[in-house]
Amino acid sequence: MIYIHVPFCKSRCYYCDFFSSVRADLTESYVDALCAEAESRRDEMERACADTVYLGGGTPSQLTGVQLRRIFDALPEVPEGAEVTIEVNPDDVTDELVSGLQGTPVNRVSMGVQSLDDDVLVKINRRHRSADAVRAVNMLREAGYVNLSLDLMYGLPGQTMEKWQRDVDGVLALDVPHLSAYSLQWEEGTVLTRMRDRGEVQEADEETSLAMYRYLVDSTRKCGMEHYEISNFCKPGMYSRHNSGYWREEPYVGLGPGAHSYDGHRVRRSNNTCLEDYCAGRVMYAEEHLTDDELYDEMIMKRLRTSAGICVDEVPAEHVEYMLKMAERHIRSGRMVLEDGRLRLSSEGIFVSNDIMSDLML
Ligand code: SF4
Repeated sequence: MIYIHVPFCKSRCYYCDFFSSVRADLTESYVDALCAEAESRRDEMERACADTVYLGGGTPSQLTGVQLRRIFDALPEVPEGAEVTIEVNPDDVTDELVSGLQGTPVNRVSMGVQSLDDDVLVKINRRHRSADAVRAVNMLREAGYVNLSLDLMYGLPGQTMEKWQRDVDGVLALDVPHLSAYSLQWEEGTVLTRMRDRGEVQEADEETSLAMYRYLVDSTRKCGMEHYEISNFCKPGMYSRHNSGYWREEPYVGLGPGAHSYDGHRVRRSNNTCLEDYCAGRVMYAEEHLTDDELYDEMIMKRLRTSAGICVDEVPAEHVEYMLKMAERHIRSGRMVLEDGRLRLSSEGIFVSNDIMSDLML
């Protein structure tokens, strides 16, 4: 698994605290530095295998076709049948981008729609409008990109239950094979959090957020989608192989400023987030060696998110008893299920997943 972090955005969305910059003048030196980092970490990438490649950001669709091709040329050969995803913003989907993608192995496109309500999009400073998202889906399909994933957000300022229902229904009507939906997080230091602190926007109450999530879960089920991870839904078999690899704690190599890597055992690496340093070829990073207890907690946090849950046999012997003891009352209340040697959240448990996970963690 290979992850490429593309840290550029044309403008900043008010809720976002991801690492990205609006300095478009640095894209060319970023691509040079990324190719150099790929060269220096070739052995690591070959060990991690390029069976899935994910270009995330930031906004990878801010790069040109030539820049995207240069990045893929610097990676080990992408094997036949690999899943190669790029994140795009709807208004970046132009003839130019689509023909640029056609010169790359990209075969899956993930688009940040967030809402189909223009007033809500304005409030969070997204640069596209609802019509752009619909147009982009149709354009990508016509170009042969059918493996599409759309992102939605709920609990946004000004997003009433009726607006959310129109968002979910509208996105499901587009009939894409994969949908992700995240509740708005009020991160420290974002424009939106400052607006909330000044009383200019209000947080959705917990009850409304939960009702929105329930509507999403029910609607996707009625459409025949599998709820395979807390925030992810897909038509049968169309799950994200890349993200599923993260949840199974498979090794991955992350290239680019701010990207993370994991050796599949206990070493996690985080590249420094200074874009200027990175573009000047100074790739600095920190390494973290996870303890047994931290590995157990990671396993709870990642695997319990998925419908596959945790295989009890894979839990280190010293933690099994504790995990099952803590899970006991949730199993009794019907919020967890222990079946065929696997422990997972039930369809009711998903709504209180954070509480259950923190109970099971050390
Ligand atoms: S949400 Fe995406 S497009 Fe918006 S600022 Fe964050 S990374 Fe950029």
